[in-house]
Amino acid sequence: MRVVGEGNANVLIDLGDTDCLYRCCVRFRDSLKRNNEYSIENLQYIQTCVKMVLGDLLCSMELVELPLEGFEGILGQYVGNLDDSKIIVFRMPNLKPRILEKVAYQDQFTQIYTSHDLSRVVLELKPKWVYNPSDYCRNCSHSRLKGRELRYCYSKLNQDPLHLTELLASAGELPAGFQRDLASYLASSTNVLAVLYEAQRELKHEALSGIESVADVTSSMSLAMTLRDVTCFIEWSSDADQLRVNVVDVDLKPKEKFVHWRETQLRLDSFEDKCYH
Ligand SMILES: [Zn+2]
Repeated sequence: MRVVGEGNANVLIDLGDTDCLYRCCVRFRDSLKRNNEYSIENLQYIQTCVKMVLGDLLCSMELVELPLEGFEGILGQYVGNLDDSKIIVFRMPNLKPRILEKVAYQDQFTQIYTSHDLSRVVLELKPKWVYNPSDYCRNCSHSRLKGRELRYCYSKLNQDPLHLTELLASAGELPAGFQRDLASYLASSTNVLAVLYEAQRELKHEALSGIESVADVTSSMSLAMTLRDVTCFIEWSSDADQLRVNVVDVDLKPKEKFVHWRETQLRLDSFEDKCYH
């Protein structure tokens, strides 16, 4: 048993199965029971609201109940109060199998892994705000605000598939077939960026800067924020006809997060070095 991935709200645990991983919620640091209850509510939300938008792009996941025994050491590092005798986790396919051990590229929003013989590639990306409700680019402006300058932008890539060159420019060795197939995928109207763009565009909601309480967080706003924080896995294999695409990190956002959303939006509103493209 080992932790193979760690986010603010989740840990990914490898229990030795070759094909799947277990995703355990640690969002609430004061109660395992609360994390378990949230996982049940979260999966219901994903299988209704998120599934309706993403369809087959949504990665398969199922709830599994495991006894706490044996997990205390790992979970205790994240959750102070282990006040339940079980853990409720998501069982999901392992989208980055061990064979993909070479890292061809890595930054905060993108990772590219390959097998040693270059017969398989996985591109892991966080597209964030593909659709911009304002006239400036939210992704690029937010990066600048944080002091990061990226050569590429997923909102831009959605508008212009040729922007892929910028994304792959700093990557290590990649098979030509992968680059060709990815370019052709991104030019199609049903690619994952286009689907996210359309879904984000349709979810109209009040400005994040104007939220005053959890009562102002509408279901549209909540789903929009979920879709602005997903991770996509695009897998290429030299012997497969097409790319395999899965979207994960599609969690229900606690309404209390509005404080952070509002603060970020207010900082962006007054930021003078916004990016337009
Ligand atoms: Zn941009």
